[in-house]
Amino acid sequence: MVAITPDSPVASVFGRSPKRKLVEEGLGIRTVGELLRHFPRRYVETKELSEVGRPEVGQLLSVVGEVASSAVKPFHRGRKQQFRTEVRIRTNGPTFSLSFFSPYAGQAHKYADEMSPGSRGLFTGKAKLFNGTWQLEQPHQLMFGRNEDGDEDEDDPRLSKLLPVYPVTGRLYVWDLIKVIRFALDVVTEVPDLFSPELRERYDVLDVMTALRLVHGPDDYAQAGAGQRRFRFEEALVLQLVLARRRAAQRALGAQARLGGGGLLREFDQRLPFELTAGQREIGAVLMRELAQAHPMNRLLQGEVGSGKTVVALRAMLHVVDSGGQAVLLAPTEVLAQQHHRSITSMLGDLGQGGMLGGAADGTSVVLLTGSMSKPAKDQALAAMASGEAGLVIGTHALLEQSVAFADLGLVVVDEQHRFGVKQRAALTDKAGSPPHVLVMTATPIPRTVAMTVFGDLETSVLTELPAGRAPIQTNVVPLAEQPQWIARVWERVREEVGKGHQVYVVCPRISGDTQEDGESDQLDVDEDGEVTTRKVPLAAVEDLHEELAAGALQGLRVGMLHGRLPPEEKDRTMRSFAAGQVDVLVSTTVIEVGVDVHNATTMVLLDADRFGVSQLHQLRGRVGRGGLPGLCLLVSRAETGTPARDRLEAVAATTDGFELSRVDLEQRREGDVLGANQSGFKSSLITLRVLRDEKTIVRAREAADELLAEDAELSTWPGLAHAVLEVEASQHSEFVDKS
Ligand code: ADP
Ligand code: MG
Repeated sequence: MVAITPDSPVASVFGRSPKRKLVEEGLGIRTVGELLRHFPRRYVETKELSEVGRPEVGQLLSVVGEVASSAVKPFHRGRKQQFRTEVRIRTNGPTFSLSFFSPYAGQAHKYADEMSPGSRGLFTGKAKLFNGTWQLEQPHQLMFGRNEDGDEDEDDPRLSKLLPVYPVTGRLYVWDLIKVIRFALDVVTEVPDLFSPELRERYDVLDVMTALRLVHGPDDYAQAGAGQRRFRFEEALVLQLVLARRRAAQRALGAQARLGGGGLLREFDQRLPFELTAGQREIGAVLMRELAQAHPMNRLLQGEVGSGKTVVALRAMLHVVDSGGQAVLLAPTEVLAQQHHRSITSMLGDLGQGGMLGGAADGTSVVLLTGSMSKPAKDQALAAMASGEAGLVIGTHALLEQSVAFADLGLVVVDEQHRFGVKQRAALTDKAGSPPHVLVMTATPIPRTVAMTVFGDLETSVLTELPAGRAPIQTNVVPLAEQPQWIARVWERVREEVGKGHQVYVVCPRISGDTQEDGESDQLDVDEDGEVTTRKVPLAAVEDLHEELAAGALQGLRVGMLHGRLPPEEKDRTMRSFAAGQVDVLVSTTVIEVGVDVHNATTMVLLDADRFGVSQLHQLRGRVGRGGLPGLCLLVSRAETGTPARDRLEAVAATTDGFELSRVDLEQRREGDVLGANQSGFKSSLITLRVLRDEKTIVRAREAADELLAEDAELSTWPGLAHAVLEVEASQHSEFVDKS
């Protein structure tokens, strides 16, 4: 007989079972090894009835329940008589009804016998609410065994104290997986362990076979946890080793040391109209030091909205220009690139007029490059960049194009907002003769472990304090579901604010009402039969609202409009007149989300606010309260109390701490989105690891990775680990090549 190893095909443990196809095609599992690493999503206690909170319609539920009643009912399908076994089960929550269909009476009665009142089992199905009763559709049951006395049989192998609940698909049930995985664990041999006995001891982890047995068949939660811990640490360690090696490889590249020393930065500092905060000064010093080294800086700068990241980046850019190089700032949107260009040009004053009449002696010149610029303007900018005449370059993704070249690119600053991935960064850094220094800025703070995973190839600095003179922002939810008439009060409040000489942003989730954007909100209705249906309500749209407000609630005020489909010159003109105070109320989409900086704006109204993510709301709200005037943010929403959407808004209203909110945001998103290949360059999202829950594991893994690499940079002492790391590196590499 051939030995079954992790490399054997799943067929070797399935035999002829038709379920094999479901496992292969539905779950994408090809080998026994992959099957063994199909970990339970959770466990159910077979001793207790399941605690079921409020099920969600459509949710696939697996619950331990006790049969309350079962009855066979004949019915006609066409002319044919068929049978339905109706079973009601009790849980520690709602009672569910399940219908099992059979073409024959015998089979229907077999179901009823198997699920006689008082018997217990694991029931699976899709939750549905009908006539006020919860149902499990397409049900499946795994009844716990009984001995001759009719009592539950403790020795029934199905009745382990904790049943693993696996992610399943289609007609593949949890029980199918329990059976086959148990079998596989019994027969498989030669399961390689990434960790040598020495490493297991050093990091206190279980060997792989023990851990697999505990994860798939624990007696209690402590055992399950012990098994899981091993796999989480394994995954975290491999990830951190890959990232640490990436950092080391970057360090090993030579870069041109930018020693500074020219007068541009000094003069700029002298002219700054404000004092730098302590954090801005400290991080500035770190950046100057790293720029002066002969290997590339790779740093992530994160900080609260409004903490003044731009000026930190600009000072680093000036340091590079002082060293004879060029620096580029990559912005995620056209509006933001234009605004950076405006504000940097004005902060520099005559220092930014190098080569022009009236420019300062130490000056340089600043150019803007965006996709929508006219050809002659573009050509002029490109020429200035290629010749080195432009020391500072600001632009959008247009900077990534082939035709863009630099004379001596020394520093790339990416104003991140999660929109540029590893790949785009590379497209820009490749334009430098030798690897440039890189500074990535996030628009909102992110938790430490996200920084360590998503941006794990970068070192991190955090700006924690806000510049003095920042006024607090008051945030309120305006709950139209309960108080529809409050919208009138919102517009009154806007008028009052404008009456005081201040300005207001009104933000909508979409541009126009008559196009089919992804733009309708679901309203839940329960009809007379108890069927839950959703009704579509159009979302607030900039063009419609602009017209409506200008002619109605805000008549007489100067109401402007801004969105991504306007021609760029118009966008720029509108932003300028808003900045100059010539527009009272700006109705816009989220184009104003990042970085827009108008000090006289005190109020922001967000319509259908539940349509925005937590970080996005925080970022948007950071647009007000910038000029020392207290800010007000109104989150208008039709989401009802108790829904996740409404909870999210309440969370945003409750705190202005961006780190706290980024945790809320993450908890509500799927992990896969957090570690999307786009941001991390990783093909697969994490499997067992969760960036928030497993913070300690990730931190410990990072330390372990540094320690191991310091001992042996090639990892050849630990072939198992080395193999796993190389595999990830290879898959990333191919991914990288595929996409570019
Ligand atoms: P963010 O970190 O959100 O990108 P910005 O860089 O846009 O913040 O800075 C927000 C505003 O604060 C800008 O108007 C900037 O000029 C101002 N600012 C930056 N640093 C200071 C400081 N130390 N003191 C006062 N104002 C500052
Ligand atoms: Mg900014």
